[in-house]
Amino acid sequence: MNAAPGLSVVIPVYNEKENLPELIDRCLAACRKTGRSFEIILVDDGSRDGSRDLILQAADRHAEVAGVILNRNYGQHAAVFAGLEHSKGRIVVTLDADLQNPPEEIPRLVTEMDRGLDVVGTVRENRQDSLFRRTASALVNRLVRQTTGVMMHDYGCMLRAYRRPVVEAMLQCRERSTFIPILANGFAGRTAEIPVKHALRENGKSKYSLFKLISLQFDLLTSMSTFPLRLLSFIGALISLCGISFGALLMVLRFVYGATWAAEGVFTLFALLFIFIGAQFVGLGLLGEYIGRIYHDVRGRPRYFVEHITAASDPAMSRPGWQGSTQHNSTKNYLHQ
Ligand code: UDP
Ligand code: MG
Repeated sequence: MNAAPGLSVVIPVYNEKENLPELIDRCLAACRKTGRSFEIILVDDGSRDGSRDLILQAADRHAEVAGVILNRNYGQHAAVFAGLEHSKGRIVVTLDADLQNPPEEIPRLVTEMDRGLDVVGTVRENRQDSLFRRTASALVNRLVRQTTGVMMHDYGCMLRAYRRPVVEAMLQCRERSTFIPILANGFAGRTAEIPVKHALRENGKSKYSLFKLISLQFDLLTSMSTFPLRLLSFIGALISLCGISFGALLMVLRFVYGATWAAEGVFTLFALLFIFIGAQFVGLGLLGEYIGRIYHDVRGRPRYFVEHITAASDPAMSRPGWQGSTQHNSTKNYLHQ
């Protein structure tokens, strides 16, 4: 395949032997329906159940299927990144291999992208997961919405579509722990969400243990903001304020009730203690501010992304921008770090 295909589908696979044959057939059918050239990239994330051989066979059999084999298990988001790196499509769709995200939704995502959007997210209609997972998800989604101000309702659903420049921007981010839907939204100007179906996992088990889920939430939180570090200062200031008010109250009461009240000044010690504990937190928060800035700089994310430059006098300057068809190479010129 020489020319860049219209559509790339990236699927991370970790021990999904039972789902793979059906997944590949349904994906091929769904992609053909879109009526454009496409590639399906299956990323084997160190499976130990023979999924790897199935992927290699499928890549042999179908020209549109490509396999990216990782040497060990690196986690879902790292696997998706490996797939993104090898994708060439002008639109990239990611989805899970367990058929919980029906591949039949791909054409709908593509149609939505044709409206000129940068990212299309999805909301799982009548989600088929445990009550614990659904509640935890609802909480996290609300937190993300409040912190980032980006109005999306279901960050956990990996059935999503991204335009090439957004993918290129994400690939410029060299950080190790990341959460792709949040990272993508950081580079997206126009986004939309559509409701999609969600199926029960019929074969195999969820690859996320409680511990892995918690660690994923930390990836999500830290890829989103350094607000928790700033929180330390707020908490410190609050504790100090309480200490100062308590001290003032003690002083007033001391004059009203005399020296024996408040255990001969023992309570005053508490008030002082609060003030100093608060000051320590503020100090930690200040350190946090610097660490946050170091963290931002070390990640080296692109600072901004120019969509289009107009330069009437020099035609060489007006390259196709955000929606151009040859942007695979030219978008690099628009990244500023
Ligand atoms: N996955 C992966 N590496 C991992 C864990 C999961 O590539 O370490 C893949 C897995 O094969 C599936 C997708 O990520 O395609 C989502 O995993 P799963 O269905 O277990 O997650 P859940 O639906 O429970 O959130
Ligand atoms: Mg699943």
